[in-house]
Amino acid sequence: MENCIFCKIVNGELPSSKVYEDDKVLAFKDINPQAPVHILVIPKKHYDSIIDIDDSEMDIVAHVHVVINKVAREMGVAQTGFRIINNCGEDGCQEVKHIHYHILGGKKLRSL
Ligand code: C5P
Repeated sequence: MENCIFCKIVNGELPSSKVYEDDKVLAFKDINPQAPVHILVIPKKHYDSIIDIDDSEMDIVAHVHVVINKVAREMGVAQTGFRIINNCGEDGCQEVKHIHYHILGGKKLRSL
């Protein structure tokens, strides 16, 4: 989608620090990390948020979680624990309107 920062990262128009990539999903380091490990996992296809994914395309969410599992292991937080966050829409404080899942770990996080 035009003017979407994460679509530009997917297309290589903007740089990112990639930690995983396949044909459907990309994972890269957050530019403003909130924890020692802070990775964003996104579907390459543009969806504004979970609300915009049709039931028939929900397989991508399962695939994102497969990648989260893989990335968490590779980043060394699988055993110690981590948090997955998906901010959704205005009240959810979603800044980038391309669905993304934060993986946060590498330290003891505050409870919600
Ligand atoms: O969930 P939310 O939309 O608030 O998070 C967007 C995240 O995208 C922020 O953590 C921000 O640091 C990150 N970001 C990034 N690279 C960009 C633009 C934003 O990692 N080029």
